Amino acid sequence: MKMSAEALEWSSAPPLDASLPYVFTNGLLFNGLNSQCGHCGSRIPPPAMRGQLHRLADDRCLMVAKGYCEACRSLTCFNFVIESSDPPKIHNLEMAPAAQRLS
Ligand SMILES: [Zn+2]
Repeated sequence: MKMSAEALEWSSAPPLDASLPYVFTNGLLFNGLNSQCGHCGSRIPPPAMRGQLHRLADDRCLMVAKGYCEACRSLTCFNFVIESSDPPKIHNLEMAPAAQRLS
């Protein structure tokens, strides 16, 4: 089987679990989220999520991850900004332009 560049990138990325839970400066935790395949809607189990969390500010972090769906054998990108609150606020970066139009 020939792997696409995207699949190669996924297989070489660290498991997202290694970055979880993410601890914000104020002590709140982000434990990850229930990920769904963007193509067929199946749940993507945590071991199939790969990527990292990056600190943006004391109360914000960026999650850049990809999940592999076994049901339809495709990758879904997860690019979220997570804001420290209880529960954490999750902003989907791909939906950001639509949200701006509404305000
Ligand atoms: Zn799928």
